[in-house]
Amino acid sequence: MQGKLYLVGIGPGSREHTTRRAVEAIRESDVVVGYTTYLRLVEDLLSGKEVLASGMRREVERARQAVELALGGKKVAIVSSGDSGIYGMASAVFEYLAENRLELEVEVVPGVTSALAAAALLGAPLGNDFAVISLSDLLVPWQEIERRVELAAEGDFVIVLYNPRSSRRDWQLGRVREIVLEHRPQATPVGLVRNAYRDGCAVEVTTLREMNPAKADMLTTLIIGSSRSFVYAGRIITPRGYRSKYSMRG
Ligand code: SAH
Repeated sequence: MQGKLYLVGIGPGSREHTTRRAVEAIRESDVVVGYTTYLRLVEDLLSGKEVLASGMRREVERARQAVELALGGKKVAIVSSGDSGIYGMASAVFEYLAENRLELEVEVVPGVTSALAAAALLGAPLGNDFAVISLSDLLVPWQEIERRVELAAEGDFVIVLYNPRSSRRDWQLGRVREIVLEHRPQATPVGLVRNAYRDGCAVEVTTLREMNPAKADMLTTLIIGSSRSFVYAGRIITPRGYRSKYSMRG
């Protein structure tokens, strides 16, 4: 008999922000697969389970391993941080199934993605249309990423950046800043959230002019406001409406 595969997003880090279904899915599984860092975040749920920890850049191998175990009758959970469908393992698994014409029961368990965790810590920066862009050029050529940044900037979207900077990719974020500055005022608010809802959580509100790209790393999510975003009492706010439909005066 076939098993089942869970693609579990465990949220940003703290257990309060992991959904109940995510916890259940891990509890129901015989095998739990994921990066060591993420497995550590759910360590308390792993006793008595087979645990397959792996390093970065091993997505396809991990997908194949998990699918095979599930086809062989096991209940397998692949854990991703945030949401599994957003720069996570879900697409790798479905691509593998499609490529090999395999059929398997898969349940995707949604999780609180970094954009939402960072936004909550910053106030209400995502009150209007936003674009989410990963600056990692591991799987997408840089030219294409830069084009999307350009279009999002031109379209006045709030821009959420995942994978903003690593030791190997140290100039891209500076380039993004330049591009956005061609379309938005220097005082446009920028929020940097590092380790959202984890130990060492740090939140910084700055501006496009002042922001220091060197402060971002692979544990940081950045939110660049639209031309209408503003800061009040340390929070970034993007107004819901661009037309004053009702009076806000108290
Ligand atoms: N599937 C994940 C994203 C994986 S890509 C999700 O839905 O959130 C990895 C990037 O996510 C990191 O480089 C960083 O930009 C962001 N990230 C992941 N966890 C984070 C956290 N706790 N705080 C801030 N950013 C985080």
